[in-house]
Amino acid sequence: MSRSSNPADPSNPATPAELKGPKDIATSAGMSAPQSPADTSVQDRLARLRAEISELNRQILRLVEERVAKVGEVRALKVAQELPMFDPVREARMFEELIAGASGSLTEREIRALFRPIFDISLARMEGRTPNASLRVCRQHGEPDRSFAVGPARLGRTPRPILIAGPCAVESEEQIERVAASVASLGLKFLRGGAFKPRTSPDAFQGLGREGLRLLRQAADRHGLAVVSEVTDPREIEAMAGCVDLFQVGARNMANYELLKELGATKKPVLLKRSFAATLDEFLLAAEYLAKFGCQDIALCERGIRTFERQTRFTLDIAAVPILKKKTALPVIADVSHAAGRADLIEPLARAALAAGADGLMIEVHPCPEAALSDAAHQLTIPEMERLTRALGLVHDGMDAGEI
Ligand code: PEP
Ligand code: MN
Repeated sequence: MSRSSNPADPSNPATPAELKGPKDIATSAGMSAPQSPADTSVQDRLARLRAEISELNRQILRLVEERVAKVGEVRALKVAQELPMFDPVREARMFEELIAGASGSLTEREIRALFRPIFDISLARMEGRTPNASLRVCRQHGEPDRSFAVGPARLGRTPRPILIAGPCAVESEEQIERVAASVASLGLKFLRGGAFKPRTSPDAFQGLGREGLRLLRQAADRHGLAVVSEVTDPREIEAMAGCVDLFQVGARNMANYELLKELGATKKPVLLKRSFAATLDEFLLAAEYLAKFGCQDIALCERGIRTFERQTRFTLDIAAVPILKKKTALPVIADVSHAAGRADLIEPLARAALAAGADGLMIEVHPCPEAALSDAAHQLTIPEMERLTRALGLVHDGMDAGEI
């Protein structure tokens, strides 16, 4: 829209001829209007205070620069000693010291708000992060896709997408052995199976627990496969760590931050599933917990979110795949089984996820889905899984997909 040429229009800037008094003329020419002596003394005082504030800004900047230099020295010592960069106890103590030594003109909340970004910048420097990537899990400038070993397999940057296949829950030695044998015969490398099942109803099958893990590990070892299993309880992490190659954090535990912190500290690879009620930013911040507490090898899993649609159990958020690939360099997996909640949609959703750029898929498979103790509606039979993996081109005969 062009601006009105009507001088009566209040949005039309006044021309010099329309200006009234000397104050107006002086202002339009960028000069100060004549001032009374009282005005002048206020202006002088203001100018002096502003100059003092500018000088304080410079001093604060110099002090922060000095602090950053010291942080660089701490970094060098920590690298030499292989100490963790982030020390939450030290950080808490620094806040306490600041608050205890404050004169009272700033509230505790203001002191924390002031020093939080200073501490964050220091930590980013210590961890060698670029300032433009706000999170550790964000793709750093020019960073290629990440890739890491998972037992005998690899996640990320594989020649073709990987498949994590297996039953919803480990139910028996025979059941997991039949699935493991099929997975291995296809040249696939990942065997999943729930041992600790987070079920909506407390009366539903809760998994075989440690016995399930033992059966899963044995079957995987017989066939040279990597084990993927869900951890639901921080108290089980230690026992599971010897058994599992890739810890899975399920949708219901994505925001269990104590679990994420403890899991991060084990430094073992983690497959983090998106909560069905989480935005992608919340999902990335959950991954950030793992990264902050020490986990380098994180894969993200889109597994469907809750919408008003009831034809599927959840709605697979296809856009999440390319968005997560853009924002992070982490491998992104799509669990199409839990998203669909029905076996007949596994193939089209799998194709969609791969077309969207997923590094791999998770699909549940059971020797006899109708008799499964959990998720009977969407598990594929073994022949269905074999046909699908061939149709999707995930099967290989030589040393390529999913191998180091
Ligand atoms: C699972 O993969 O076994 C599972 C329970 O999935 P989700 O956490 O995505 O519901
Ligand atoms: Mn399941």
